[in-house]
Amino acid sequence: MARRVQSPDLVRRLRQVCPDVRERELLRKHVSFRIGGPADILVVPRSGDELRAVARALFDEHAPFVILGAGSNVLISDGGIRGVVLKIGKGVDRVTRDGDRIIAESGVGLPHLARDAAASGLSGLEFAAGIPASLGGAVVMNAGAHGHAMAEIVAVVHAVTPDGEVELRAAMLEYAYRTSVLQQRAAVVTEAMLHLRAADPAAVRRQTDEWLAHRSATQPIGPPSSGCVFRNPAGDHAGRLIDLAGGKGLQVGGARVSEIHANYIVNTGEATAVDVLTLMRKVNALVEEKFGVRLDAEVKLLGETAPDR
Ligand SMILES: Cc1cc2nc3c(=O)[nH]c(=O)nc-3n(C[C@H](O)[C@H](O)[C@H](O)COP(=O)(O)OP(=O)(O)OC[C@H]3O[C@@H](n4cnc5c(N)ncnc54)[C@H](O)[C@@H]3O)c2cc1C
Repeated sequence: MARRVQSPDLVRRLRQVCPDVRERELLRKHVSFRIGGPADILVVPRSGDELRAVARALFDEHAPFVILGAGSNVLISDGGIRGVVLKIGKGVDRVTRDGDRIIAESGVGLPHLARDAAASGLSGLEFAAGIPASLGGAVVMNAGAHGHAMAEIVAVVHAVTPDGEVELRAAMLEYAYRTSVLQQRAAVVTEAMLHLRAADPAAVRRQTDEWLAHRSATQPIGPPSSGCVFRNPAGDHAGRLIDLAGGKGLQVGGARVSEIHANYIVNTGEATAVDVLTLMRKVNALVEEKFGVRLDAEVKLLGETAPDR
């Protein structure tokens, strides 16, 4: 098991640029699954300037760190995360508009941005209104729904890297299904420019509402989850395969395969990360036995891996 990072020097250095630095903070409070142990150090910048200063400090100090946006696509281990967690959300959420372009900081909520765009008569973000992501997480994951994805609208991304601040044009991001080059690079996304299209505000709102209603009817909206846990295999849907393999309703500890959408695992109250991982393994075995297909995780596993049951 990795050793806890206790570095008064690092905490002091981070506090010089950002007042909100917490030690042994439980991460389950910061993620949609409501699962996960403590971070040695959690740092929560409250502005874009603070975010850039924190990111620079972390790279300068060679500190081990992971980034959390809205925490809606992660499974954090029960042992938590050794090192620093950089949480990007409230405060890092300035949005400006320049014609049909929106320039927004990475902590802004995607549903908020989609509503804003609709109100301004800009089309392109309708698919995103029901995705509970931060803009940064959505840009990194190439979040998508209803046949559309971030790759269609991201024009430029600003990030802090070990080499300083960089501007990455869309063509450099290597976008593909739920992935981008940003998942492999040491880069803290600070801002993105989205290229939308002027449209009739009523039509944009209508489409947004229609897709939101479809989500409510087909996905579990209430209980804590991390959305779809498996990537769709080429030409098929993981949820369909899990359903046909008899996975719906399967439960390990407090983790349960949703009856509404089989690619969702929900936390019924007291689920642990080990419960979820064990359930994912069982579901995968069912699907492999029936269809000969192995599903890959879409949810990002962060932190120490705990022993299986
Ligand atoms: C109810 C529900 C419904 C969902 N529906 C959908 C859907 O329809 N479509 C879809 O694609 N996804 C969906 N998701 C999953 C999730 O919302 C997306 O994957 C989203 O893009 C994650 O964004 P986030 O801000 O929560 O990122 P997090 O979960 O916090 O992080 C995800 C990854 O991105 C990295 N990251 C986050 N922010 C940054 C940053 N600023 N800079 C660099 N790296 C960063 C993290 O380190 C991590 O590796 C759903 C989730 C839930 C809970």
